[in-house]
Amino acid sequence: MPRFDLQGNPVSPGVGIGCAWIPVEMGLYRIPERKLVSETSEAALERLMAAHKRAIQDLQKIQAATTQELGIQDAAIYGAQIAVLQDPDAHRNLERLVNEEKLQPESAIQALLDQFEGLFKDLEGGDRKNWVADLRDPWLGVIRELGAAEEDRVFEANGNGIVLIAEELTPSLVTRHHRHPLAGIICSRGGRFSHGAVLARSFGIPTVTGIEGVHTKAQPEEVCLVFGDEGRAVLGATPKQEKRATELAEERSKVHQALSGLAVEPGRTEDGTPVSLMVNIESPNDLKMLDPALSSGVGLFRTEFAYMERPAFPSVEEQAEIYESVLASFDGKPVVFRTLDIGGDKQLRYFGHPKESNPAMGWRGLRLSLEWQDLFLMQLSALVKARRKGDVRILLPMVTTVEELRRSKELLSQVVGKAEPPPIGVMVEVPAAAMALRDIAQEADFISVGTNDLAQYLFAVDRDNPWVADLYQPYHPAHLRVLRYIARTCNALGRPVSVCGEMAGQLPGALFLVGAGFGTLSIAPPFVAEVKAVLQRVSADSLRQLANRAAACHTSNDALALLQVEADRLWAEVVQGTISNRP
Ligand code: PEP
Ligand code: MG
Repeated sequence: MPRFDLQGNPVSPGVGIGCAWIPVEMGLYRIPERKLVSETSEAALERLMAAHKRAIQDLQKIQAATTQELGIQDAAIYGAQIAVLQDPDAHRNLERLVNEEKLQPESAIQALLDQFEGLFKDLEGGDRKNWVADLRDPWLGVIRELGAAEEDRVFEANGNGIVLIAEELTPSLVTRHHRHPLAGIICSRGGRFSHGAVLARSFGIPTVTGIEGVHTKAQPEEVCLVFGDEGRAVLGATPKQEKRATELAEERSKVHQALSGLAVEPGRTEDGTPVSLMVNIESPNDLKMLDPALSSGVGLFRTEFAYMERPAFPSVEEQAEIYESVLASFDGKPVVFRTLDIGGDKQLRYFGHPKESNPAMGWRGLRLSLEWQDLFLMQLSALVKARRKGDVRILLPMVTTVEELRRSKELLSQVVGKAEPPPIGVMVEVPAAAMALRDIAQEADFISVGTNDLAQYLFAVDRDNPWVADLYQPYHPAHLRVLRYIARTCNALGRPVSVCGEMAGQLPGALFLVGAGFGTLSIAPPFVAEVKAVLQRVSADSLRQLANRAAACHTSNDALALLQVEADRLWAEVVQGTISNRP
């Protein structure tokens, strides 16, 4: 019997097998009071001081970079954070907590943070929170460093077979721990269309969420299984279950390998109608895992993750280098760079974002770039520089009005001067932009539809909020009809249009979108071969009819069922074909 066999939500497909690793995720839950077990207090203090030193070095780097980019005043905050970490009282306290109370370093820091809370207990509301945050944040950096060292130890001991277990599937959870390849992820919380989920799929990590309290149920380094297609997770698997899962994973990987071998041909439907399949990537690191020959280029490079992975905002030259490495890999194929889409759940730790009560509806994407024009101009300059290495296209996120597009084009023309500007496109992910598409599309060079956000705003449902996840319905006919309208409008205007939301990488979604008139889909790399293989088995005309029938349904369930039946039928043919073709 396994210790736990648990049903959650499928987030990223595939079978993952590995040892549980439960990093301490600060801010999400309190670090429990854990006593030292086998480690001596001298060794624990040594580990703590090494992490402390690295946290200070990290802050010093950010301080130096901020001084250079923004000036000494903006960088002063980091000096203050370093001073917090150097406080001798705090050190004496930590030594006592580890030496006398025998607390593990993470728990000792938690105890210190609790003392800070106590210090300001008489202060009211906002002031109290701000004081506590100022003292807490630098120490969270030390906990992060302790976690990174532990991560290295666990990965060294267990090779690639690690299943990451955490409370919430946030984008930073995936990017931070992506230094090592992960066999799977299991979380208590995290929507299927959240940014964390998008990353997990893009990296091809089997992932399940919705398993309440999994980070407290799992035991460190026990064998865990992740069944990403079914949304099932097993903690403390039996050897028999592990063997069965290994066979399943091998079978899956054989089908995928066979499909990848066939996927070098350009995408098309059965009757030869071309469908351009591009990839979504998040960082130049993704290039190690994908074969550029399988796609027609990059349809969405989410540039913000390259900024999130760094300790400080990169200079123009550094940004250009990142972009050029992607362009060089794609050797002349177009690469669509989406300008910074931070805000909401994507934060840069070196910039103070304001606290917003409704961040998804707030200051994010292009809104922020148009406010922080210096940074936007730096990014545009880097993109213009990178043109020496390939076909750069610029995509603006979260466009709501045509004036925002006009302002961005003015800034771009400041950067290029008299030279020809690179093509500039608009992401349609706000319903107002979809409804005003005729006006926007006439002034944009291309359109890319972000269904993840479009569905969020159309249904007034936060894509990260589990309480309303049932109402997040990308297959609802209301959304399908908006999508069909977008395709028809762009096609009538002769404006290139693609879809880069997650729906495009799901088989039912891809069938609908091609049928609705989208000639380009941009999807997470692991799904390119599957989507190509399925499209090759169905004519453009039957997809048109299927899309119209789905859009005419009254409910999401009916529309999805219709599309799913066709997707399953075609997928079964594909699998059958690859098995019978196997030598
Ligand atoms: C989208 O909203 O569909 C999209 C592609 O952008 P992101 O998921 O990064 O918000
Ligand atoms: Mg979006």
